[in-house]
Amino acid sequence: MTTTRPGGCACGAVRYLLEGDPLFTHACHCTDCQRLTGGAFGISMIIEESQLRRTKGQPMSGELIADSGNRKKVYFCGACGSSLWNESSGRPGALTLKPGTLDDNDWFKPGAHIWTRSKQPWVNIPEDTASYETAYDASEVWPKASLERLQAKTD
Ligand SMILES: [Zn+2]
Ligand SMILES: [Zn+2]
Repeated sequence: MTTTRPGGCACGAVRYLLEGDPLFTHACHCTDCQRLTGGAFGISMIIEESQLRRTKGQPMSGELIADSGNRKKVYFCGACGSSLWNESSGRPGALTLKPGTLDDNDWFKPGAHIWTRSKQPWVNIPEDTASYETAYDASEVWPKASLERLQAKTD
């Protein structure tokens, strides 16, 4: 049985279902994520495109170029502005869900913290969690099964 987890924006205009477990979740302390969230870091839950089912509303989107040079399409609620998910040209077949929008979001924990060179000094990374000054190489950090799932999508 696949676990299905509902989520949506703050005002309820956009709702979705996440089907199955994510590929990987990381916290990103880059300055783009700080701006996009208006907070100290962003949390990125990387999923296969097919795992996200929109059930209500149509999000709006905008585009920006990430520090990596990848083109990033960001989706958000046009009514309340909540960030919902992103698409990156660097990871075809995948979406980056903003997991704070899940109705129940206490079941996951970031598997890595990245771009810690720009993290806020008062943010302490748990000692048992991998952290990287800049980007990481997913092929070294993600579980093998997740790499295979994404590989199957992009081949
Ligand atoms: Zn909304
Ligand atoms: Zn970031």
